[in-house]
Amino acid sequence: MTPKKTKLLYEGKAKKIWETEDPDLLISEFKDSLTAFNGEKKSEEAGKGALNNKISAELFEYLNEKGIPTHFVKLLDDTHMLHKRAEVIKIEVIVRNIAAGSLSRNLGIPEGTELPFTLVEFDYKNDELGDPKLNDQHCLILNLVREPAELDYIRYMARKINRFLQEFYRELDLKLVDFKLEFGRDKNDNIILIDELSPDNFRLWDAQTNEKMDKDRFRQGLGGLAEAYAEVLNRIKNR
Ligand code: 5GP
Repeated sequence: MTPKKTKLLYEGKAKKIWETEDPDLLISEFKDSLTAFNGEKKSEEAGKGALNNKISAELFEYLNEKGIPTHFVKLLDDTHMLHKRAEVIKIEVIVRNIAAGSLSRNLGIPEGTELPFTLVEFDYKNDELGDPKLNDQHCLILNLVREPAELDYIRYMARKINRFLQEFYRELDLKLVDFKLEFGRDKNDNIILIDELSPDNFRLWDAQTNEKMDKDRFRQGLGGLAEAYAEVLNRIKNR
């Protein structure tokens, strides 16, 4: 039986999250809206929600096969995904292989510089405060996790996911520059990967031309966002 949306639980910038008849299962509905710079820049891009939903489903399936615990259950249709309910850990886990974005802006490392090792950073998932940077002590003071070992586990999982995704994208002739992950706690208190895995939260560059295939097309007003996301999905499907 296909689960049905019952009650709207939450509406974010890119997704609506719905409850279902099963208390342990939720449905994410991917929207066409685009926001950047903490909601200051807004737009709509027809088809973006469906592309992100399908790309996310492919990546969650791939990671599940590799043994990474995630919230993903199944793709329902173009814009809906079924997943487990999880209590969100309010940390945005940023993984970087190549300098870009805020790392380049804040520390003056030129965009495109290969980092000597994979950098894992934590941002506070808090729009009102503009997602500020966190260190481990901030995470504990804010009770975002229960003990330091959970931060070590999250960093360990983020690096492991990065290795799998780098391998995945290398086959597609794409460079995985950086990305944002979110984690949550399932009903058994296990920490699992949640949210979405799409070019809205990944920087992906064509390996040959360094052309941007991600949300920077919107952030930097380059145009052609849906075309770039469709090309990413196309490469995944032909893998
Ligand atoms: P930066 O800190 O350079 O802006 O972002 C680093 C990476 O994390 C980029 O791939 C970016 O897409 C992702 N990221 C960071 N914060 C957010 C956020 O609040 N929302 C989304 N969708 N992605 C984010």
